[in-house]
Amino acid sequence: MENRRVRLRFAPSPTGGLHMGGVRTALFSYLFAKKHGGDFILRIEDTDQTRYVKGAEEYIIESLKWCGIEPNEGVGFGDGSHAPYRQSERKELGIYAKYAQQLIDGGHAYYAFDSAEELDAMRKRLEAAKVVAPQYNSVSRQNMRNSLTLPEDEVKKLLDASTPHVIRLKVPRNEEIRFHDIIRGWVVVNSSQVDDKVLLKSDGMPTYHLAHIVDDIEMEVSHAVRGEEWLPSAPSHVLIYRYLGMEDKMPLFAHLPLILKTDGNGKLSKRDKSGIPMFPLNWYDERTKESYVGYRESGFFPEAFVNMLAMLGWNPGTTQEIFSMEELVQAFSFERVNKSGAKFDPEKTKWFNQQYLRMKSDAALAALFIPILKEKGITAEQHFVENVCRLVKEKAHFVSEFWANGNYFFIAPSAYDADVIKKRWNEQSANFIKTVTESFKGLTSFTAAETESTFKETAEKVGVGAGQVMQLFRVCLSGVGGGPMLFEMVELLGKDEVVKRLETAINSIN
Ligand code: GLU
Repeated sequence: MENRRVRLRFAPSPTGGLHMGGVRTALFSYLFAKKHGGDFILRIEDTDQTRYVKGAEEYIIESLKWCGIEPNEGVGFGDGSHAPYRQSERKELGIYAKYAQQLIDGGHAYYAFDSAEELDAMRKRLEAAKVVAPQYNSVSRQNMRNSLTLPEDEVKKLLDASTPHVIRLKVPRNEEIRFHDIIRGWVVVNSSQVDDKVLLKSDGMPTYHLAHIVDDIEMEVSHAVRGEEWLPSAPSHVLIYRYLGMEDKMPLFAHLPLILKTDGNGKLSKRDKSGIPMFPLNWYDERTKESYVGYRESGFFPEAFVNMLAMLGWNPGTTQEIFSMEELVQAFSFERVNKSGAKFDPEKTKWFNQQYLRMKSDAALAALFIPILKEKGITAEQHFVENVCRLVKEKAHFVSEFWANGNYFFIAPSAYDADVIKKRWNEQSANFIKTVTESFKGLTSFTAAETESTFKETAEKVGVGAGQVMQLFRVCLSGVGGGPMLFEMVELLGKDEVVKRLETAINSIN
């Protein structure tokens, strides 16, 4: 194991949009592979043709690219040294059938000819006998139609006649199966709990259980990282490696904890109603006609999304929360992934975006804001837009909020906050606004500092407390009672615009 090259695969099934749990699995695999100078492979597990969804594969690839979790090998990536990477194509090459035959020949798998009705009857029989979890196993298989119970010549006859059949794993009755999981430690299960899994279906397609093992062996995967839902099947997988004589090729397992709903009650659903997306990109499910909003389209930065995902179940062991991809690569280890489920926190998710928004340069934010302005029919100078971004970013989580919070930088207000006017507009304050307008007219330098001291001097002269007229003054300029640093806003609007807006306010409020 020590000398093996580090190779991890992300192996989604193209059965729908890739939700954020899947992206997290990809991310953890990617981080580990990069940390150890290894490979990160994309394999498409499309053996279940009934669940195949058009567009899902492209969606997966686009999502990984947007997140910056790019495979260096696999479907759509790399030089194809272990191609093909789609299981449907691998099946055509007879790869899985060869391994299934090897298990049959070694006496570790068998043919089963049971029809759907016979399987159903078995389940009913076992239920009637109060068997808790009825399954096809070392006990029940003895009463079924398979190559372990039928005479050899009959089996041959059935096979020669192409009678529909599956190939099942022959699990021993009472044996201890042990394996080590990097996150969970030693897992020990008795084989009496393990069913005789189908390896090859009647249409010749392998099941996940056989296919992923064959592929992990042939693709020289060193670590298999996957969701916790696969933990119960892992003992069967260990047996398959053993029976193939490939235990030395078995990857190290890491079963990731679930992502839980915010209240910790149950698994996070793709139909979660927190208002935060569950999918990286917009996704429309043609079968169910359901649409899901993406992080990308909701205005999240990919860095914020990835940072948030990394903290869902992993922690660095320090108080640091903001990590670039490079820092995640350095800090990541499976030992610091929790065994228990990770609660999804919508507020924290927005907080991450806010942190990244604040870290962006004004020019980068302006580049995102300008298209929104264009949509509103606004053209403004680059420098001016950058300054608006500098002021409004302090109170925003998303660039999309810039317009709602700062449209008055581009359009003079047409209405004034009624509550503030009612509370603050009186003879004395109106007099102040008039006087300060006149004082501003005389200023030659219109900086934040200059206008602020003029404002304060005027308040003193008129005999009002500066604090008493501050909000009213703001409303006269912007129409709204809250916003960025007041005199920064004044400086940015500029002398002519400020004087014009104050005069308009005086005329229209009176
Ligand atoms: N195709 C499986 C899934 O989508 C992959 C599990 C694995 O990574 O082994 O859940």
